[in-house]
Amino acid sequence: MADAYADLLNKIIEIGRLTAIDALVQWDQDTYMPPQGVSARSEMCAQIAITAHKLQTSSQLGELIANNNETGDPIRDTIIREAKRDFERACKLPADLVEQLSRASSLAKSAWVQARQENNFQAFAPHLDDLLKLVRQKAEAIGFDNEPYDALVDEYEPGATTAEIAALFERLRADLVPLSREIAASPNQIDDAILRRNFPEAQQEALCKHLASAICFDFTAGRLDRSVHPFCTSMGPRDVRVTTRFDERFFSSAIFGVLHEVGHGLYEQGLDPTHQFTPMGTATSLGIHESQSRLWENMVGRSLPFWKCHLATAQEHFPDALGNVSLQNFYKAINKSAPSHIRVEADEVTYNLHIILRFELERELVSGRLAVKDIPEAWNQKSLDVIGLTPPNDADGCLQDIHWSLAGFGYFPTYALGNLYAAQFFDKARSDLGNLDEQITKGEARPLRNWLQENIHKHGKRFRAAALCEKVTGNRLTTEPLMKYLDGKYRPLYSLA
Ligand code: ZN
Repeated sequence: MADAYADLLNKIIEIGRLTAIDALVQWDQDTYMPPQGVSARSEMCAQIAITAHKLQTSSQLGELIANNNETGDPIRDTIIREAKRDFERACKLPADLVEQLSRASSLAKSAWVQARQENNFQAFAPHLDDLLKLVRQKAEAIGFDNEPYDALVDEYEPGATTAEIAALFERLRADLVPLSREIAASPNQIDDAILRRNFPEAQQEALCKHLASAICFDFTAGRLDRSVHPFCTSMGPRDVRVTTRFDERFFSSAIFGVLHEVGHGLYEQGLDPTHQFTPMGTATSLGIHESQSRLWENMVGRSLPFWKCHLATAQEHFPDALGNVSLQNFYKAINKSAPSHIRVEADEVTYNLHIILRFELERELVSGRLAVKDIPEAWNQKSLDVIGLTPPNDADGCLQDIHWSLAGFGYFPTYALGNLYAAQFFDKARSDLGNLDEQITKGEARPLRNWLQENIHKHGKRFRAAALCEKVTGNRLTTEPLMKYLDGKYRPLYSLA
């Protein structure tokens, strides 16, 4: 039996190495590849995908999985369980469906880019129709208990169900909508003009690197580079790549973008290197991944203690723009909240409303209760109900996100789950670590980072997100910690009762 396990582990590591090679090649494409490299690169990526699919569905792998039973050893059992899950999922999807989905989404993506530029939803609609048909076939092939959306969510958030997410989001919606309305109606509105002065790029980059190091990102095991869309990718805990973009007329986009991506990067650097290329060395879900980025970006990075420590350094980097700004005014500006049309520009309070809108619509779309042609009207109505605004056009409404064009139905909820997990973890870290505010004020991020590594990162995929949350915090995921956090922060900021 020992040999059967060793053989299975070797196969898993082969696939894991190939996944890391793919990540490296994609990182290069998004950062340094010259424009003319694109066609050879897409051939290379397709080759990796074909080779990976062969390994993932090989009968040899199937036999090795069948020859390995649970052993009672948590590491082995995690690896066997995840190998089985991945193998079964890969085998359930017919190769022609995978190919059709890949072709349809590459067509849909370019149609979406154009439709968005031209504010023409009807040009994108036929592509979305095709994708939805294929996505429903995919859900049928994978199988589900209650509704097809379950099979789609499970890809990003293993073990989560649509019904559980819907229950959490209903609760969140009931609490968040009134808070965001109160903030919008407050006479004490925040002016963030100080963040829209001139912030030279080189200085921004230097400050980003300084802050990344301050929250324990290890630059001997990671890099910060530039890309059109910021992201974090990893070849393993000793080689983590974070990217950003710079806007010289807005302080927040690169600074908080980097704190966000570095939060993802700390999760990757916190995985156990002895389990590299295996499920024990891989993040457990997108929701948990997002909890790490939101925790560092918002709960730490937009807090008063953090800037008590770092504002002076920011002022040294930008003496003209920030030299005469007080800590209080700076803290207010970075936490301005207002209803807005664009999800990626939304603040901590309104962000989750954008996700709830998308979750409710895509659940209807996948089930067939909402027709593609009716999306703009449904979007605008829900936007008014949930966010409190009707978008001026479809480009800034139902066409704003790339996800649907990539067939990424079921992805959106992981963003809001991330915010919920972040608040619940942060609450627990605060009670475990003693005076966390004082530590952050002194620039001591290490205890919090170690707490996250010990409780979350190092377990890899050993625990599903929901089980991990219960293990770490003693409770199932609820909306209370996030609402407590938002009320505690935003009621004073907007002088609300
Ligand atoms: Zn993220």
